[in-house]
Amino acid sequence: MELDRDNISRLREMIEGEPCKITVVSHTNPDGDAIGSSLAWAHFLRTLGHTVECVVPNRYPYFLEWMPSIETLRIFKDDRNGETAAFISGSEIIFCLDFNCIARLEGLSEVILSNTTAKFVLVDHHLDPPQEYDLVFSHPECSSTSFLVYKMIEKLGGTASITKEMGESLFVGIMTDTGNFAFSNLTSDLFETVASLVRLGVDIPYVHSMVYNSFTVDRVKLLGYALNKMETIHAHGVGVAYITLLESELRRFHFQQGDSEGFVNYPLTVKDLQMSVIFIQTRNFIRVSLRSRGDVDVSRFAKIYFEGGGHRNASGGKSYKSMPETVAYFRKCVEEYFADGPR
Ligand code: 5GP
Ligand code: MN
Repeated sequence: MELDRDNISRLREMIEGEPCKITVVSHTNPDGDAIGSSLAWAHFLRTLGHTVECVVPNRYPYFLEWMPSIETLRIFKDDRNGETAAFISGSEIIFCLDFNCIARLEGLSEVILSNTTAKFVLVDHHLDPPQEYDLVFSHPECSSTSFLVYKMIEKLGGTASITKEMGESLFVGIMTDTGNFAFSNLTSDLFETVASLVRLGVDIPYVHSMVYNSFTVDRVKLLGYALNKMETIHAHGVGVAYITLLESELRRFHFQQGDSEGFVNYPLTVKDLQMSVIFIQTRNFIRVSLRSRGDVDVSRFAKIYFEGGGHRNASGGKSYKSMPETVAYFRKCVEEYFADGPR
């Protein structure tokens, strides 16, 4: 993973000057990578003397509650007195981490875009940023934004500027976005970074357990229920699984945000399935999560049919139809998408 030297010098100029107000923002339904990269990057900027706030549109899942300094994170949905909005409006730099399309900030987009004087810096690993930034660190070859942030801090301040707490935050992002080191782009460079995190004192079994073994009984029962509902389709030689979860079903299991995280991966443990999709009903729309392996490109699928996007093997989108209509539409899309073979 190589960082562009000119980009690093421009970033250095931007952050090594007078102390200023900086917002670090990440995406809706923030995951381990969004939170991990934001907390570590904000911490680094604070050591340079800046006043920094990390903002996310809505709450993070409960299994990240233990993360160091997570109490400093501002949740825009809870910004009743407008304090967070005011901070964003007065920021001189806005770092956008782990997403590349401002629309993914939903209700927060307006406040972010109303600041027309701040410098906007993108730090992300999703494909094709759809809009302009003043400075862009866009690395789709990078398995997580947290790994990218590690490399940036290493270049800017050396490894000595990374504390154990920052290391834990970064490891959460690295571990969760690689599916616990199972997905693509697992470079030797990544494992060298993990080795240096271990040297900082990051306790891998501890972090792993805090994230993956912290669920409720209801969550585990909901997983069993969801897997029992799995349906499969075979379209032109491609095996596809899908699961639907209605709000009423979620309520039965006292659903909390984050409970369905990872469900979509389980169908891919079946040998002849290459694509897995979960449809989760929310108040205003159905959230679609897609995963695939190998050549099957779910990012394109999400973009064409579900107003979404993401990575080749992990993407998301939305449906504004009812659940039965969404499923009928999805089955037609699968048929059409794979008509010329896997793609
Ligand atoms: P998840 O299924 O975990 O919510 O999301 C998987 C991937 O798809 C993530 O990398 C996320 O950034 C991307 N993604 C999820 N929802 C959307 C969406 O509505 N639009 C776009 N462009 N990407 C999404
Ligand atoms: Mn990520």
